[in-house]
Parts: sequence; structure tokens; C-alpha cells
Amino acid sequence: MSLIEENLKEIKSRIQQAAVKSGRKEEDIRLVVVTKTVDLDRIKEVIRCGIEIIGENRVQEAEEKLTRLTEKVEKHLVGHLQTNKAKKAVELFDLIQSVDSAHIAEEISKRAQEQGKLMDVLVEVNTSVEETKFGVEPEKTLSLIETISKFPGIRIKGLMTIGLFSDDPEATRPCFKKLKFLFEEIKSTSIPNVDMHNLSMGMTGDFEVAIEEGSNMVRIGTGIFGSRSN
Ligand SMILES: *Cc1c(COP(=O)(O)O)cnc(C)c1O
Repeated sequence: MSLIEENLKEIKSRIQQAAVKSGRKEEDIRLVVVTKTVDLDRIKEVIRCGIEIIGENRVQEAEEKLTRLTEKVEKHLVGHLQTNKAKKAVELFDLIQSVDSAHIAEEISKRAQEQGKLMDVLVEVNTSVEETKFGVEPEKTLSLIETISKFPGIRIKGLMTIGLFSDDPEATRPCFKKLKFLFEEIKSTSIPNVDMHNLSMGMTGDFEVAIEEGSNMVRIGTGIFGSRSN
């Protein structure tokens, strides 16, 4: 068994245990394998191992790699998106997880319409305001979603967050609780064109805590490929 295969097996078993702990099944949690800085050969290898979703954080890097990938796999953008890259992002990805302003949502919608596509997006929420600069503030999330739900080229499919960076996953738990709370709140509001389905939270260092708090989509890179040099 290759190292990637072994790591994947280990991660899946930990996902399964965390799922059971929160009264769910392994299949209820979708695994996005984050392939930023990972070369094409290793991407092909995880796909051979049966991985169904890969995530990239930069449009340019994704374009260089993904256009050479013939394998069928779902592709997500997990990193911040700049307006001038929206057209390319709509072309390349099946889900954009990082919508955090009306401005970028409008641009994605416009580009999607030009391409005859309905673009699925998640709204990125900044649950650790002092730590990162991306994501909409929790208090402004509902109103942002109300605004962008009217844009014809996009479909809102859930929420995403990057928790607090910490060696202690417990320190991140309040971030995940906050996102889950918002997720349920927005779901109960039943806004037209909003399908609160994906709750994307949890990375290598904190995915078990995220699953315990209700995550149904985890994004894992290092735990599968080892640490990135940059
Ligand atoms: C890099 C990245 C991940 C994966 O992080 P790891 O710690 O390597 O598992 C998840 N989400 C986003 C948005 C990322 O940029």
C-alpha cells in the first residue's frame, strides 16, 4: 500500500469514528481532498483510490493542473476568489466554497450566465474574526444570503468556514458551533433559491471536532499528502 493510500485509509477511519460519535454514518460526511501544491501524479493516485472530490485554493494553479486531468472527479474551489478570476473559476469548478461578498457573487452569477451554467456556491463565514481576513462576518451572513439568493447564475448550497488556527482542536470548537447555529438558522428561514445542504468545516488538524459539531463536508490536505513545503 502506498503512503497516500495508507493515509487515506487512516483519515477515513477517523471520519467514520467521528461520524458514529455524532450519531451519523461515514457516508453522511463528504471528504474533499485538498490538492493545492500537490502534483498531477499524486492527484491521479488519490482518484485511483476512489476519491470523488478534490479541492484547490488558487484558480491559476488549478487551471494548470485540472485542465490536464482526464479523470472524472468533482472539483471545488476552497480558496479566496478575486473578481478577475471569476470567469475561469466558473469554467473549472463544480462548487465554489468561498463566496464572501455580494460583489464576488454577482460576478460569478454574471459569468455563469454567460457560460450557460448554474454555479453552485457555499458562503464562507469568518468564525474567527481576529484571525483571518476572508469570509463574511457571522452577523452579516443572513443578509448577504438574502441579497445574493436573487442572483440568477448561482445556487447557494451551504456554508463554509476555516476555524481558528490552533494546535488545540478544542480551541476551534466554538467556531464550528457558531457555523452550525447559523446553518440551522438560515435553513429555518427558507429563503427561495437557498438549499442549506453542505456544512463545510474541518481540516487535518480539527476535522473530528468539526464532525462532532455537525460538519458534513471536511477538507483535508496535509493528513493525506503530508506537509506542504510552502
Ligand atoms: C489548505 C486548505 C485546507 C486543507 O488544510 P490541511 O490542514 O492541509 O488539511 C482546507 N481548507 C482550505 C480552505 C484550505 O486552504
